[in-house]
This record gives sequence, structure tokens and C-alpha cells, in this order.
Amino acid sequence: MELAVITIEDYAKYPFLKQASSKIQNLDFTIQSIAEDPSILKRAEKRIEAAILDLTTGEPDKDERNEITAYAASLIIAIATKKPWIKKRYALAVAKTAYSDMLKYKNANEKQAKTKIYTIARDFGWNIIDGQKIAGQSVGKDFGVHFANYLKNAAHMHKPEWKLVNQIISNGYIYINKEKAARLLQEEIKSRVEKRLDIDEIKNLPEDINLITNKLNVLAQDIIGQETEEMPKEVTMTAFPPCINALMMEAKQAHHLSHIGRFTLTSFLLNIGMTAEAVNELYKTFSDYNERLTRYQIEHIAGERGSATKYTPPQCSILQTHGVCRNRDELCRYSYHPLKYYKKKIESAKPKANSP
Ligand code: SF4
Repeated sequence: MELAVITIEDYAKYPFLKQASSKIQNLDFTIQSIAEDPSILKRAEKRIEAAILDLTTGEPDKDERNEITAYAASLIIAIATKKPWIKKRYALAVAKTAYSDMLKYKNANEKQAKTKIYTIARDFGWNIIDGQKIAGQSVGKDFGVHFANYLKNAAHMHKPEWKLVNQIISNGYIYINKEKAARLLQEEIKSRVEKRLDIDEIKNLPEDINLITNKLNVLAQDIIGQETEEMPKEVTMTAFPPCINALMMEAKQAHHLSHIGRFTLTSFLLNIGMTAEAVNELYKTFSDYNERLTRYQIEHIAGERGSATKYTPPQCSILQTHGVCRNRDELCRYSYHPLKYYKKKIESAKPKANSP
């Protein structure tokens, strides 16, 4: 197969490519020059903000050179946040955006999509061949991907369509279509960006960059909730805040919860000391209960998988926006977070030291 010609548009779309790195070096900028260019800084900030909020990299700058520079600047900013959650999320957003982009080409440009994917795969050192035929016989697949490249990137994919028994395998190659190849490349891209971000700190950053990192850290904290703090050892159901009681009621009666409702309830229960097993039991009555998926989600929220971040429920202000905050009571006026409410209620129920 032939390699595609990498254009300036491609460098802007796939700035993680090795070939793009040399392009970035040729642009000849420094941290100081980035900090002095508000439009680059703004776009770099937007890239990470969009990653935090919805796992994308946002609307690209129309000028490809600016977009490439903003990518480099975004790496500096992501490192400067010193937050593993932000770094992992940004790497995933870059990878997911590239994945969608690789599949954008419709029928007329199928060949172009295939060549682009092939070129990106080669940049990652894949052993990849055309998948139309095996020994002259048509198999109608886009690519043959070497076993080693397939296994490395499909390790976390558990659906039957990824299992080896369901693949066409010949001479060490696994024959797949371009959608699957792009999905495997998403994993490669995520790992590469994560490696680039694996730096503890960059010293003496300009103040403008520090201000942006502070803003992004606050935003991330809003999304993943407050840092876990010391919670009472025993679970006290009578201290649950009204929103959690409403979610428990809904779970019992409707056997269904919205995505944010389920996330809030699960993270709340895990943070007050309920076991993953007990939370799983709660969801067993749900009409859409799927044991493997539910366990995976609970373990993910508990920080036992993925980014190793133990999630906490979102703050009250976010729960209000999403309609999860219900039946507010007096104590809610002095709480900004369901876990704070819970702790306060337990403390207020304790007998005072000097009371009779
Ligand atoms: S104010 Fe906070 S704790 Fe109270 S019901 Fe609303 S979300 Fe829950």
C-alpha cells in the first residue's frame, strides 16, 4: 500500500504524529513566545477545557499553524496542571478526536480514509498490509494487521467482536476493516500522548500559563468532585442528603436512573464506605442490569480501574443544573457538596461533649 502525503491540514488534525513533531520544531517557538500570544493560549486552554467537559478537543483554529502550535502549548499546560486525571483525560480526548476524524471520509473518499489510516498506522510502526485478499482469495477486509499490533491495542476490548476466535487470521495477520483499525489506533494515540505528558513539572512557567492551569484545575475538580476526605467509618443512612434519598427511591421504584444520577449515587455510596459488592446488589433490580458492565462502572468509579482516580459525586451546584438536587432542606443551605452534608449531619447528631 502507498503512504498518503501528509498535508499541513493533517499535521493540524494529527499533531501527535512523529512527522508532525519535526513540523512543530520548525515553527520555532518558545514557552515565552506562546505565553505572549493570547490567541494560541486561548486555543490551547479550549482544547483542554473541551477534553475535561466532553472528551473532545473543541473547535480547531482555522489557521493550521496556529492549531499545531496550540497543540504544543496544550501539552505544556496539561503538564503544568500536575493532575494525572487531566493528563489522562486530555490524552483520551486527543485520541478520540483523531478516531472520529479518521472515519469522517464517506463513500467517495473511502480510499483516502484507508490510505490515511494506513499512514498513521505506519507512523506507529505497525506491520500492516492490504486486507482485500489472502493468497488470491477475496476476504473483503481493509487491512491485515500483525498479530502483535492487534493484541497490544485490543487488550482492553472485551466485546465478542474483538475476540481472536471471531477474527480472520492468516500468516500472523488479523484481517479487519478500517473502523476497527482506527479504534486500535485510538489506543496507540492515547498511549503516545500520555507518554508525552509524563513529566512531573515544568519550572518557571510564565504567569499567564499558571493562571490558565489554575482555572483548569478548578474546572476538573468541579467535574470529578471534591477530594476524598476522611469519612465516618459506618454507613448512616439517616444522614443521607435529600438528593441521595431521592435517587435511592427512584432506584427502588423505577429501577432506572439517568447517567448522572447513577454516577452520583454510586460515587456517594462508595465514598461513605459501602462496598462495591453492596452497590452492585442495589443495581441488580434494574431493567438494564448487566453484571459485567455494572461491575466495570463501579470499579472504575471506585478507582480500581482506568485512571486510578476515586471519583466523588459532583458538587451541589452541578447537581442543581442537572436536576439531581431535589427536596433541599435546611442543612443544604450550609452544604455545597452531598458528602459535606452527610458528614455535617452525622456530626450534628453526636451528643455534645459537655451535654448531660
Ligand atoms: S443541596 Fe446538595 S446536598 Fe442538598 S439536596 Fe441539593 S445536591 Fe443534595
